[in-house]
Amino acid sequence: MRILVIEDEQKIINFIKKGLEAEYYTVDYAMNGEEGFFKALNEGYDLILLDIMLPKMNGFELTKKIREKDIKTPILMLTARDTIEDKVKGLDAGADDYLPKPFSFDELLARTRALLRRTGSEKSNLISIADLEIDTASHEVKRDDRRIELTSREYALLEYLARNKNIVLSRTKIAQHVWGYDFDTSTNIVDVYIRYLRKKIDEDSDKKLIKTIRGTGYKIGE
Ligand code: CA
Repeated sequence: MRILVIEDEQKIINFIKKGLEAEYYTVDYAMNGEEGFFKALNEGYDLILLDIMLPKMNGFELTKKIREKDIKTPILMLTARDTIEDKVKGLDAGADDYLPKPFSFDELLARTRALLRRTGSEKSNLISIADLEIDTASHEVKRDDRRIELTSREYALLEYLARNKNIVLSRTKIAQHVWGYDFDTSTNIVDVYIRYLRKKIDEDSDKKLIKTIRGTGYKIGE
Protein backbone atom coordinates (compact mmCIF):
# COMPACT_ATOMS: atom_id res chain seq x y z
CA MET A 1 0.00 0.00 0.00
CA ARG A 2 1.39 3.32 -1.04
CA ILE A 3 0.54 6.60 0.66
CA LEU A 4 1.24 10.20 -0.36
CA VAL A 5 1.59 12.72 2.47
CA ILE A 6 1.15 16.37 1.45
CA GLU A 7 2.24 18.47 4.42
CA ASP A 8 4.58 21.44 4.86
CA GLU A 9 5.87 20.69 8.36
CA GLN A 10 8.89 18.41 8.30
CA LYS A 11 8.26 17.31 11.89
CA ILE A 12 4.78 16.03 11.07
CA ILE A 13 6.00 14.38 7.86
CA ASN A 14 8.69 12.52 9.81
CA PHE A 15 6.20 11.45 12.47
CA ILE A 16 3.70 10.10 9.92
CA LYS A 17 6.33 8.54 7.63
CA LYS A 18 8.11 6.71 10.42
CA GLY A 19 4.88 5.38 11.88
CA LEU A 20 3.37 4.26 8.58
CA GLU A 21 6.59 2.63 7.38
CA ALA A 22 6.67 0.60 10.58
CA GLU A 23 3.23 -0.67 9.48
CA TYR A 24 4.65 -1.72 6.07
CA TYR A 25 3.16 1.16 4.08
CA THR A 26 5.33 2.87 1.48
CA VAL A 27 5.29 6.64 2.04
CA ASP A 28 6.13 9.52 -0.31
CA TYR A 29 5.66 13.15 0.56
CA ALA A 30 5.29 16.59 -0.97
CA MET A 31 5.85 19.83 0.93
CA ASN A 32 3.62 22.17 -1.06
CA GLY A 33 0.34 22.04 -2.96
CA GLU A 34 1.79 22.12 -6.46
CA GLU A 35 4.27 19.33 -5.86
CA GLY A 36 1.49 17.36 -4.18
CA PHE A 37 -0.78 17.83 -7.18
CA PHE A 38 1.97 16.71 -9.57
CA LYS A 39 2.68 13.57 -7.55
CA ALA A 40 -1.01 12.75 -7.08
CA LEU A 41 -1.50 12.97 -10.86
CA ASN A 42 1.44 10.91 -11.94
CA GLU A 43 1.69 8.13 -9.44
CA GLY A 44 -0.73 5.47 -8.34
CA TYR A 45 -1.35 6.02 -4.65
CA ASP A 46 -3.78 4.07 -2.48
CA LEU A 47 -4.35 7.02 -0.15
CA ILE A 48 -3.48 10.72 0.16
CA LEU A 49 -3.00 12.38 3.57
CA LEU A 50 -3.50 16.07 2.99
CA ASP A 51 -2.86 19.14 5.13
CA ILE A 52 -5.13 22.16 4.51
CA MET A 53 -2.77 25.10 5.08
CA LEU A 54 -0.09 24.58 2.43
CA PRO A 55 2.18 26.85 0.40
CA LYS A 56 1.30 27.40 -3.31
CA MET A 57 -2.10 25.67 -3.23
CA ASN A 58 -4.23 24.90 -0.17
CA GLY A 59 -5.76 21.53 0.61
CA PHE A 60 -9.27 22.51 -0.50
CA GLU A 61 -8.12 23.73 -3.93
CA LEU A 62 -5.84 20.74 -4.27
CA THR A 63 -8.65 18.28 -3.51
CA LYS A 64 -10.90 19.99 -6.06
CA LYS A 65 -8.18 19.86 -8.72
CA ILE A 66 -7.42 16.21 -8.04
CA ARG A 67 -11.11 15.29 -8.33
CA GLU A 68 -11.47 17.37 -11.50
CA LYS A 69 -8.78 15.17 -13.03
CA ASP A 70 -10.98 12.20 -12.14
CA ILE A 71 -8.45 10.77 -9.70
CA LYS A 72 -10.43 8.81 -7.12
CA THR A 73 -7.65 8.10 -4.61
CA PRO A 74 -9.16 8.46 -1.12
CA ILE A 75 -8.14 11.69 0.62
CA LEU A 76 -7.83 12.06 4.40
CA MET A 77 -7.55 15.74 5.36
CA LEU A 78 -5.31 16.71 8.26
CA THR A 79 -5.72 20.12 9.73
CA ALA A 80 -5.22 22.27 12.77
CA ARG A 81 -8.59 23.86 12.12
CA ASP A 82 -11.41 21.91 13.66
CA THR A 83 -14.51 23.79 12.65
CA ILE A 84 -17.71 22.44 11.14
CA GLU A 85 -17.32 24.87 8.24
CA ASP A 86 -13.89 23.47 7.33
CA LYS A 87 -15.09 19.89 7.57
CA VAL A 88 -17.98 20.61 5.24
CA LYS A 89 -15.71 22.51 2.84
CA GLY A 90 -13.21 19.65 2.76
CA LEU A 91 -15.81 16.97 2.22
CA ASP A 92 -17.57 19.07 -0.41
CA ALA A 93 -14.31 19.53 -2.27
CA GLY A 94 -14.04 15.75 -2.52
CA ALA A 95 -12.12 14.60 0.56
CA ASP A 96 -13.25 11.31 2.12
CA ASP A 97 -12.49 11.92 5.78
CA TYR A 98 -11.12 14.55 8.12
CA LEU A 99 -8.74 14.34 11.08
CA PRO A 100 -8.03 17.39 13.28
CA LYS A 101 -4.50 18.04 14.57
CA PRO A 102 -3.09 17.17 16.99
CA PHE A 103 -4.02 13.54 16.37
CA SER A 104 -2.73 10.33 17.86
CA PHE A 105 -0.91 8.03 15.49
CA ASP A 106 -3.27 5.19 16.40
CA GLU A 107 -6.24 7.22 15.25
CA LEU A 108 -4.52 8.15 12.00
CA LEU A 109 -3.76 4.48 11.41
CA ALA A 110 -7.31 3.36 12.22
CA ARG A 111 -8.77 5.92 9.81
CA THR A 112 -6.25 5.00 7.14
CA ARG A 113 -7.27 1.34 7.39
CA ALA A 114 -10.96 2.23 7.41
CA LEU A 115 -10.60 4.39 4.28
CA LEU A 116 -8.62 1.73 2.43
CA ARG A 117 -11.30 -0.83 3.32
CA ARG A 118 -14.18 1.46 2.40
CA THR A 119 -12.74 2.33 -0.99
CA GLY A 120 -12.21 -1.30 -1.81
CA SER A 121 -8.42 -1.35 -1.85
CA GLU A 122 -8.57 -3.66 1.15
CA LYS A 123 -11.58 -5.93 0.87
CA SER A 124 -10.33 -8.70 3.10
CA ASN A 125 -7.25 -9.13 5.23
CA LEU A 126 -6.38 -12.45 3.65
CA ILE A 127 -4.80 -12.97 0.21
CA SER A 128 -4.32 -16.57 -0.96
CA ILE A 129 -2.38 -17.83 -3.96
CA ALA A 130 -2.27 -21.64 -4.13
CA ASP A 131 -0.96 -22.67 -0.69
CA LEU A 132 0.53 -19.23 0.00
CA GLU A 133 -1.38 -17.12 2.53
CA ILE A 134 -0.77 -13.47 3.35
CA ASP A 135 -2.55 -11.75 6.22
CA THR A 136 -2.34 -8.04 5.41
CA ALA A 137 -3.43 -6.98 8.92
CA SER A 138 -0.95 -9.06 10.96
CA HIS A 139 1.61 -9.30 8.07
CA GLU A 140 1.86 -13.04 8.66
CA VAL A 141 2.91 -15.10 5.67
CA LYS A 142 2.50 -18.86 5.38
CA ARG A 143 3.27 -21.37 2.68
CA ASP A 144 1.67 -24.79 3.10
CA ASP A 145 0.93 -23.79 6.72
CA ARG A 146 4.61 -23.14 7.35
CA ARG A 147 5.26 -19.67 8.79
CA ILE A 148 7.68 -17.56 6.71
CA GLU A 149 9.64 -14.68 8.25
CA LEU A 150 10.12 -11.70 5.94
CA THR A 151 11.83 -8.33 6.36
CA SER A 152 9.58 -5.29 5.92
CA ARG A 153 10.74 -4.66 2.32
CA GLU A 154 10.36 -8.32 1.38
CA TYR A 155 6.87 -8.23 2.84
CA ALA A 156 5.95 -5.01 1.02
CA LEU A 157 7.19 -6.50 -2.26
CA LEU A 158 5.26 -9.74 -1.73
CA GLU A 159 2.08 -7.91 -0.76
CA TYR A 160 2.30 -5.66 -3.83
CA LEU A 161 2.78 -8.64 -6.16
CA ALA A 162 -0.02 -10.54 -4.43
CA ARG A 163 -2.50 -7.66 -4.61
CA ASN A 164 -1.84 -7.68 -8.35
CA LYS A 165 -2.06 -11.44 -8.72
CA ASN A 166 -1.46 -12.61 -12.32
CA ILE A 167 -0.65 -9.07 -13.46
CA VAL A 168 2.82 -8.40 -14.83
CA LEU A 169 4.50 -5.51 -12.98
CA SER A 170 7.47 -3.67 -14.40
CA ARG A 171 10.62 -3.18 -12.32
CA THR A 172 10.00 0.59 -12.31
CA LYS A 173 6.45 0.16 -11.05
CA ILE A 174 7.59 -2.25 -8.36
CA ALA A 175 10.47 0.01 -7.30
CA GLN A 176 8.23 3.06 -7.05
CA HIS A 177 5.57 1.19 -5.14
CA VAL A 178 7.82 -0.59 -2.68
CA TRP A 179 10.72 1.85 -2.32
CA GLY A 180 8.96 5.14 -3.04
CA TYR A 181 8.98 7.98 -5.52
CA ASP A 182 12.54 9.16 -5.00
CA PHE A 183 13.93 5.73 -5.61
CA ASP A 184 16.85 5.38 -8.04
CA THR A 185 15.49 2.98 -10.67
CA SER A 186 18.90 2.38 -12.23
CA THR A 187 19.84 -0.11 -9.50
CA ASN A 188 18.95 -3.80 -9.58
CA ILE A 189 17.43 -3.82 -6.11
CA VAL A 190 14.12 -5.22 -7.38
CA ASP A 191 15.88 -8.28 -8.83
CA VAL A 192 17.86 -8.69 -5.62
CA TYR A 193 14.71 -8.65 -3.49
CA ILE A 194 12.88 -10.99 -5.87
CA ARG A 195 15.76 -13.42 -5.30
CA TYR A 196 15.39 -13.08 -1.51
CA LEU A 197 11.65 -13.67 -1.78
CA ARG A 198 12.02 -16.70 -4.04
CA LYS A 199 14.40 -18.24 -1.56
CA LYS A 200 11.85 -17.88 1.21
CA ILE A 201 8.60 -18.46 -0.70
CA ASP A 202 9.38 -20.79 -3.59
CA GLU A 203 12.58 -22.69 -2.90
CA ASP A 204 11.02 -25.45 -0.79
CA SER A 205 7.94 -25.93 -2.99
CA ASP A 206 7.54 -27.72 -6.32
CA LYS A 207 5.12 -25.06 -7.45
CA LYS A 208 6.97 -21.80 -8.11
CA LEU A 209 4.65 -18.81 -7.70
CA ILE A 210 6.95 -15.88 -8.53
CA LYS A 211 7.46 -15.65 -12.27
CA THR A 212 9.91 -13.65 -14.33
CA ILE A 213 8.44 -12.14 -17.47
CA ARG A 214 11.45 -11.65 -19.66
CA GLY A 215 12.06 -8.05 -20.69
CA THR A 216 9.08 -6.82 -18.69
CA GLY A 217 9.13 -7.60 -15.00
CA TYR A 218 7.55 -9.98 -12.52
CA LYS A 219 4.24 -11.42 -11.48
CA ILE A 220 2.90 -13.80 -8.90
CA GLY A 221 0.34 -16.47 -9.73
CA GLU A 222 -0.33 -20.21 -9.85
CA1 CA B 1 0.39 23.36 7.08
